[in-house]
Amino acid sequence: LKPLKDRLATPKKGFFGKLKEALLGKTIDDDLYEELEELLIQSDIGMNMTMQLVEELEKSVSRKKLKTSEQIYDELKELLKAKLVYSDESNTKLKLQDGKLNILLIVGVNGVGKTTSIGKIAKKLKDSGKKVIIGAGDTFRAAAIEQVEEWGKRTGVEVIKQAHGSDPAAVIFDTVKTAKNRGFDVAILDTAGRLHNKRDLMKELEKINKIIREQSGETDFETLLVIDSTTGQNGLEQARIFNEIVDLTGIILTKFDGTAKGGIIFPITEELKKPIKFIGVGEGIEDLREFDTKEFVEAMFD
Ligand code: GDP
Repeated sequence: LKPLKDRLATPKKGFFGKLKEALLGKTIDDDLYEELEELLIQSDIGMNMTMQLVEELEKSVSRKKLKTSEQIYDELKELLKAKLVYSDESNTKLKLQDGKLNILLIVGVNGVGKTTSIGKIAKKLKDSGKKVIIGAGDTFRAAAIEQVEEWGKRTGVEVIKQAHGSDPAAVIFDTVKTAKNRGFDVAILDTAGRLHNKRDLMKELEKINKIIREQSGETDFETLLVIDSTTGQNGLEQARIFNEIVDLTGIILTKFDGTAKGGIIFPITEELKKPIKFIGVGEGIEDLREFDTKEFVEAMFD
């Protein structure tokens, strides 16, 4: 595997590079804080967190009597690292137990990379020796079922499906029942991401949750929200809505290779108080990384 920093657009030409450029060698004055504010907002960190960060930074500068821009850069790095507190090593790994069926329910709006991420996760789990099955629960989007089947073929993972337009809950029912009866280790469940009607989405996800609980006997399973990191504040808004309507256990941030920003990672994990579990760094089957905070921070800043 290539080092993470080679797969991110960010460190070389992106925001953190610019941040370093903007800060190093400068005098600490109001102009500098203003420039910093602008850069943080441009990076998709969001208005609220930007204001919070600049305030925290100003406080640190006066409390710790920081004098040089290098010290400020380092301080900002520490403040940003602290925003990843909900994505620490203890909770970024998938919760998988041996000897039982583990469920991964995958949610998110269309086009964010749900199906692709499902294929990549299926491959990872299969390679690690797990018996994996996928439920093609996005019966709404025209090509979703074929796409899941394609991933199934490529990874050698069985896919449970029904016709386009059929009830997603029925597909989930079939998948969980089959997985349970035939002793699968992991069932990965795709869902449709129609966000235009929040009430309908909520009802559908509630129904799916109920079926999973009844068929698997599990109440404690992974519900992972997929967010496209190139959509910036829109992604943050999606995260807020999904967090209201389902019990999320983690986040998958896709297309990290395609954004020179990437700052969205900080407000998402901190505001939702949920860990980032994976980041997508390309379209290939190997291009999904388990999120490792330390590795990420190093790749972003160094
Ligand atoms: P879905 O509608 O949420 O199921 O989205 P898809 O899985 O169909 O993905 C939409 C597009 O995004 C496809 O062209 C994928 O190849 C692409 N994609 C998904 N994840 C990544 C990623 O991490 N990096 C890049 N560059 N493209 C990705």
